[in-house]
Amino acid sequence: MIIAVDGPAAAGKGTLARALANHFGFAYLDTGSLYRGVAHAVILSGSLPQDEAAGIKAAETLDPTKIDPIAIRTPEVSEAASVVAAMPAVRAAILAFQRRFAENPPGGESGAILDGRDIGTVVCPGADVKLYVTASAEIRANRRWLELKGSGSDLSEAQVLADVKERDARDTDRATSPMKPAEDAHLLDTSNLSIEAAFGAAVTLIEQSRD
Ligand code: C5P
Repeated sequence: MIIAVDGPAAAGKGTLARALANHFGFAYLDTGSLYRGVAHAVILSGSLPQDEAAGIKAAETLDPTKIDPIAIRTPEVSEAASVVAAMPAVRAAILAFQRRFAENPPGGESGAILDGRDIGTVVCPGADVKLYVTASAEIRANRRWLELKGSGSDLSEAQVLADVKERDARDTDRATSPMKPAEDAHLLDTSNLSIEAAFGAAVTLIEQSRD
């Protein structure tokens, strides 16, 4: 079984996808971490995120097991990830890995949950259940700001909101695999929905599609 969870930054899709993977015993892949891994490698190589040749090289040589989970979470890498993710050759280089994961989940699990921006539209258009998790930019920025503050960042909430909006625009406006709900995706707006309620709704949808 393949579950696609797409949506913009800080909408709660990672938390939801992890909880679902845990509940159903499915393998989980955070596809954003792949783009972040590429962006981090580009930065470490001393190149600018806009440098397409550096992005392609980093994507083609990416070892997903070597991605540093802490270093890829900085605002600088978030920003750079959305720049490299707009490059068609970067996306093409990591597409096969994502599809392999979905079709042959590691550990022989009976299903896979992938979260990202284009899972339901491009990576796994035949996914059994597609969720599109969203929330207003203000609410997402507030969540991200609280998270960053908790880890010692002194960015203002207004700055985090501006960053979220810039990233949304880049992810939505790019020509290749723009962020958008698949036609058959179920929309979950977490602006006024607790994570528990979103989880409950998603579990019901997945169980219905298993019957
Ligand atoms: O989900 P996360 O915020 O970690 O993703 C970081 C960036 O990677 C996104 O802003 C987006 O540009 C890119 N991304 C993508 N397609 C995916 C997952 C992430 O373009 N499937």
